[in-house]
Amino acid sequence: MKIEIIKCLQDNYSYLVIDESNNSACVIDPSESKPLIKFIEKKSINLKFILNTHHHYDHVGGNKELKKKYNSKVIGFCNDKHRIPEIDISLKDREIWKHNNFEFKIFHVPGHTSGHICFHFYKQKILFTGDTLFSLGCGRIFEGTYEEMYQSINLIKSFPLETKIYCGHEYTLKNSEFCSAYDSENINLKNKIFSVKEKLKKNLPSIPTTVKEELDCNIFLRTKNLEGFSKLRDLKDNF
Ligand code: ZN
Ligand code: FE
Repeated sequence: MKIEIIKCLQDNYSYLVIDESNNSACVIDPSESKPLIKFIEKKSINLKFILNTHHHYDHVGGNKELKKKYNSKVIGFCNDKHRIPEIDISLKDREIWKHNNFEFKIFHVPGHTSGHICFHFYKQKILFTGDTLFSLGCGRIFEGTYEEMYQSINLIKSFPLETKIYCGHEYTLKNSEFCSAYDSENINLKNKIFSVKEKLKKNLPSIPTTVKEELDCNIFLRTKNLEGFSKLRDLKDNF
């Protein structure tokens, strides 16, 4: 299984999970179809499934065109089936879904939106977190409560340390400024920022990160309680 990172729109990432045994693939959060079609055509990939973490336009914008072109099936959360465009397969919280070598479990992580989910490819130890957890940051709370977002972040914290995290946006450097401002003595954070800058200088994504790196460096994972988390979330909104 191979992961390809496809840059979309301004700062979105879409991801292709490619089964190299037969060149079939799932795409996670196709923001727009164009850059994906370009890659898929070049590599002659068979796009079987479209997976959406949530209904925002910058995560589902390519659904319709990709589905039409490749006859792919759209997979999303059952509670959001009224607003995931072209949805074919709706899954329940903690449901496992398998097709050939593709195997994942979904986790409901409300907060950014009420129907946000993560996709856990547990065999590969990979988690797609959409706009719930970013590297060195977390998503804005649009539909949920602080408590819901806090619980969602805590759930992500509970995954094995080596779990690779692929999130919806390249916000890492911008997020690092906030973490630095409120966690200035953190050596792990300083090292992380150094390596992020090196990658970005070479025009490479800062993604993936890992659960361990985020526990060590992401201030939103380092708060002790809901009160601390809520305060940080407010501060970040006005940072
Ligand atoms: Zn969003
Ligand atoms: Fe987004």
